[in-house]
Amino acid sequence: MRLTVLGKSPSWQDARGACSGYLLEHEGASVLIDCGNGVFSKLRRFRDYTTLNAVVISHLHADHFLDLIPYSYALTFAPRQQPVPVDRWKGTDHPARPRLIAPRGAAETFRRVVGAWGSEELVEHAFLLEEYEPDSRPEVGPLSFSFNEVPHFTETFAVAAESAPDGSRLVFGADSGPSPSLVDFAREADLLLVEATLPRPERTGERGHMTPREAGEHGARARARRLVLTHFSDELDPLWARAEAAAAFGGPVSIAREGDVYRL
Ligand SMILES: [Zn+2]
Repeated sequence: MRLTVLGKSPSWQDARGACSGYLLEHEGASVLIDCGNGVFSKLRRFRDYTTLNAVVISHLHADHFLDLIPYSYALTFAPRQQPVPVDRWKGTDHPARPRLIAPRGAAETFRRVVGAWGSEELVEHAFLLEEYEPDSRPEVGPLSFSFNEVPHFTETFAVAAESAPDGSRLVFGADSGPSPSLVDFAREADLLLVEATLPRPERTGERGHMTPREAGEHGARARARRLVLTHFSDELDPLWARAEAAAAFGGPVSIAREGDVYRL
């Protein structure tokens, strides 16, 4: 498997950055995990957006799905998607319509968002939308996906991707407060991509994010083989975050940067 970081910002983009988006590729299958604001443009730097097989969404917060809107417009209106020749594009009878694998309730949320300007069915017409349940196991070519609910401010799922036949396993923790069930889900993952949003724990209310140290502790408890921190603002010191996480993890830790490629 090959994982390319397209965007790693928290809910506001880094300068020139993008929110949550990771391109996962394996033996000809391409899947975008999350499609936050800014991600569609970053995807276009690396791949032809009409060739993706699927988009998987961890949860229905704006910074994890908002660029489904420009992506939907592209699939609907791009010259190459039309049935007749337009400019240098020769026309197609089979416009791309990637699968969109999103949490239950996604159709309703997308309709409400794009319905604000009267385009209720934009996303559902552009993609083949399938809502997943916590125990769903969707397959995309040689990749199988599974989900694990994590503590956040809306229903949110960590996402695991497993490749056949070599059995490498990627776990993306999504947005999550400290969670023993995330530790179990990430057990011996080849790579754990884990959020480290906070410089210090939330002072009040429910926990919905982690500090770099907590992210490192999750990696250690899960015995993940590699640990990559993400969802970390460029307004915080990445060297501090890496040191905090590494101290708890007991080994080297990476900080996700746009364009980074991880092989597993
Ligand atoms: Zn969130």
